[in-house]
Amino acid sequence: MLRVDGLSAWYGEAQALRDVSLTVGEGEVVTLVGRNGAGKTTLLRSVMGLHEGRVAGTVRLEDEDITRLPPHRRARRGLGWVQDDRGVYASLNVEENLRLPFSSGPHAWSLEQVYEAFPRLGERRHSPGTKLSGGEQQMLAMARVLRMGARMLLCDEPTEGLSPLLVKQIGAIIREARERGLSVLLIEQNVHFATSVADRHYLLAEGRIVESLDNAQVRAREHELLHYLGI
Ligand code: ATP
Repeated sequence: MLRVDGLSAWYGEAQALRDVSLTVGEGEVVTLVGRNGAGKTTLLRSVMGLHEGRVAGTVRLEDEDITRLPPHRRARRGLGWVQDDRGVYASLNVEENLRLPFSSGPHAWSLEQVYEAFPRLGERRHSPGTKLSGGEQQMLAMARVLRMGARMLLCDEPTEGLSPLLVKQIGAIIREARERGLSVLLIEQNVHFATSVADRHYLLAEGRIVESLDNAQVRAREHELLHYLGI
């Protein structure tokens, strides 16, 4: 689904990503883990075309080279950016927020599909964006991306700052997305959560991928990883 080859990125003269290569298969959930400043957000933003500095390397989505496309054209081809500020319009209610994205193509979810997968959003369809909890905003942000027909979701720490209950709900949503054949690349510092939703994990350090781990490897090395991540 997604193939990144030799990706490097700079902020001015400072190099933040160094020759990063990774893949995410169809229906696969993959996490990026690493200490603060390791380059996780820069990597995700570069894949979406949002990094403003210099970028080298290639990004392919379903075998198409999208390296030179601007973010909105990457979105049209199926890349979904689940915004960290959650991108919810506070003045609109849930349903208005869901109607707003331009939905097209065979993969765009209908409102009915959204409410089936996220019953909580159905219950709150008339609530304004300002009245939503953090978890509900996160659900709405994901649902909006699915309304646009995304097949590959990019999520920057979707569980950050959420209560354990909401983290569980976000986990259920990611698993649901996966069951529907969507692919997900997410930044996640919670190792338990990461192994509960994902298939594989890339460990980043100083802008490089230093290891690729499966769930069994992460569990076997949990203490070492927590210590390394400074958690
Ligand atoms: P965090 O979890 O703290 O967000 P991260 O792994 O996502 O960390 P990035 O935010 O991608 O890391 O940062 C990678 C490197 O790029 C760091 O050295 C950081 O200081 C630098 N960097 C990030 N944003 C900028 C910026 N706007 N201008 C200059 N340097 C930046």
